[in-house]
Amino acid sequence: MELRLTEIFHSLQGEARTVGRPTVFVRLTGCPQRCVWCDTEYAFSGGEKWTLESILAEVAQYGAGYITVTGGEPLAQPNCLPLLTALCDEGYEVSLETGGAMDISQVDERVSVVMDLKAPGSAEQHNNRLENIPLLRPHHQVKFVLADRKDYDWARFMLDQHQLAERVADVLFSPVQGQLAPGDLADWIVADRLPVRFQLQLHKLLWNDARGR
Ligand code: SF4
Repeated sequence: MELRLTEIFHSLQGEARTVGRPTVFVRLTGCPQRCVWCDTEYAFSGGEKWTLESILAEVAQYGAGYITVTGGEPLAQPNCLPLLTALCDEGYEVSLETGGAMDISQVDERVSVVMDLKAPGSAEQHNNRLENIPLLRPHHQVKFVLADRKDYDWARFMLDQHQLAERVADVLFSPVQGQLAPGDLADWIVADRLPVRFQLQLHKLLWNDARGR
């Protein structure tokens, strides 16, 4: 069994509710979406084939307890599903970052899914797989990356329409770097008293989004 990977590296978790935790990232190659503000375009193509066993061996050498499988879009490779299960079986705490266009129904239930819902400013809103919403569990998270006030208003509508805050552990609102001032987004959330978690991506603050950190 093989998967195509762009990189495996050890760093601090950059976002979501585990931000700051030592984490091994397994970045799978390829994504069927093209968000206009994507910050991992280098993972769209290339990469190298790894066996499942070699991935587990590489992950183990870092000695971390927390693993994030990301991309690209990791679920675009069917072998992502057995990889997630194998990591859970090894005793790791595992999260999956997925763009929200792929079916999450077959993801191992032990995995903490962090699922994007793409706002209009991404140009990928039409690919949101809304059938995933009833599949969300209390240990999952939903993430909105917002480029402007129109995106924010849409995210607020989705939050209410689908009662997202009641479904998952955290709903994350994050600004597109360089497009939406973080202070504006924070002010809107506070003014509207939204039950969401504002976040900035730690790896961009610490390392200016350098690859592999
Ligand atoms: S889903 Fe993720 S990896 Fe794919 S284009 Fe959008 S931001 Fe980039």
